[in-house]
Amino acid sequence: MRRKLVVGNWKMNGGRVANAELLAALKEAEPWDAAVAVCAPFPYLADTALSLQGSRMQWGAQDCSAHESGAYTGEVSAGMLAEFGCHFVIVGHSERRALHGESDQLVADKAKIALAHKLTPIVCVGETLAEREAGQTDAVVKRQLSAVIHTLGHCISQVVVAYEPVWAIGTGKTATPEQAQAVHAVLRAQLHAATEKSAEMLILYGGSVKADNAKQLFAQGDIDGGLIGGASLKAADFAAICKAA
Ligand code: 13P
Repeated sequence: MRRKLVVGNWKMNGGRVANAELLAALKEAEPWDAAVAVCAPFPYLADTALSLQGSRMQWGAQDCSAHESGAYTGEVSAGMLAEFGCHFVIVGHSERRALHGESDQLVADKAKIALAHKLTPIVCVGETLAEREAGQTDAVVKRQLSAVIHTLGHCISQVVVAYEPVWAIGTGKTATPEQAQAVHAVLRAQLHAATEKSAEMLILYGGSVKADNAKQLFAQGDIDGGLIGGASLKAADFAAICKAA
């Protein structure tokens, strides 16, 4: 049995006071069966780590550089994150692919350097609405995951995969449990061909997960939890999702 994982992706939201209140409320709402983590913006990571002392929740970042160090103004390295106890790092979120031109190979390189620093990369894949309507969903997510498999080799077993259909992110339009499960099964099969540990790997669903749809999504055979955007900013909603997992 895979233990469920629920990860909050705060994106570019929050503030010191609001974050402290949110994390305090989540600590009050513990425990739950699932593993839970929050991915905060870089300036808040140290505060987040402090706030989470005494909690079983872990924390992560929303991105890292593909480079070890050097003249990359504005970037944050995986080594820096690892130095003060970061556990997860999201790589290849569709917002970074779309707004920052991140390629499949760059995402794979980020996953590789994250693993080299013992962080767990959460590798996001997902199709746009146009791609879904053109019947390209499977081909798109397979192409995105394939770059990571080729770059990591057998270490692919150490990543968490997140399927986030772009049309479901922040839109209130959740993939149906059946739609999501179908893509998760495609991803699991692709992982199966790459590693004997595919059955142990976590594949999260993201895209308008809410307290009232989480349970049905998480009940699917290949959905091992969620990557939660908007609903991770409200303690009651996020706690309800954590408890549904
Ligand atoms: P929403 O939950 O706001 O749709 O965002 C999903 C997401 O992008 C998480 O990474």
